[in-house]
Amino acid sequence: MRVLVCEDEDLMAELVGQALTEEGHDVEVVASGERAIDAVMQTAYDLVLLDVMLPGLDGFATCRRLRDRGSGVPVLMLTARDDVDDRVRGLDSGADDYLGKPFSLAELLARVRALLRRGPADFGGRVAVGDLELDSASSTVRRAGSRIDLTVRELAVLELLMREHGRVVSRDQILEHAWPRGAAHHSNVIDVIVGRLRDKIDRPFDAASIETVRGRGYRLRIE
Ligand code: CA
Repeated sequence: MRVLVCEDEDLMAELVGQALTEEGHDVEVVASGERAIDAVMQTAYDLVLLDVMLPGLDGFATCRRLRDRGSGVPVLMLTARDDVDDRVRGLDSGADDYLGKPFSLAELLARVRALLRRGPADFGGRVAVGDLELDSASSTVRRAGSRIDLTVRELAVLELLMREHGRVVSRDQILEHAWPRGAAHHSNVIDVIVGRLRDKIDRPFDAASIETVRGRGYRLRIE
């Protein structure tokens, strides 16, 4: 797998790069967000490891820019602090997962494996509900014929809601489907992802397909 590491601290970049290379990945390192964006626009990476603390564009802004340009590459964000605010900010900017520094290389590699397993190529099949179509193989979603770019996590959550359409999907089901097993995630992250999905698949189409069912979860309903 091709992995892009965006980290300005040489020692950290070297350690992480070496660990990923030993796992058999093809690793490239860049030291700024601007370079990471250029690299992603030119090369098909399977994963981007993005440090939050960067000179110039920080990791949040870099990730947002990648998403704005339509890249759905899985992004694992390395946050300075393992706190909820940074996690939510990271997810809000379009990252798929986050890891607080300091972390162990074993933990990093486990997260990388989990994200790569859940990468676009691992989903299979198509599902359609009303005017909404999702093709897992090509990671594309269309509504009323318009193409919508989603991140890996957004795609995973939407896929589950679509497969269970009309039924309430609990937060636990969403966590289990869209996040690596055993990873402790604050439940806010689900609200963030659902909010992003609403912004992408509902608002532009003047629809309200994803219902919040208080105390139980979410339900996709398209008439
Ligand atoms: Ca840094």
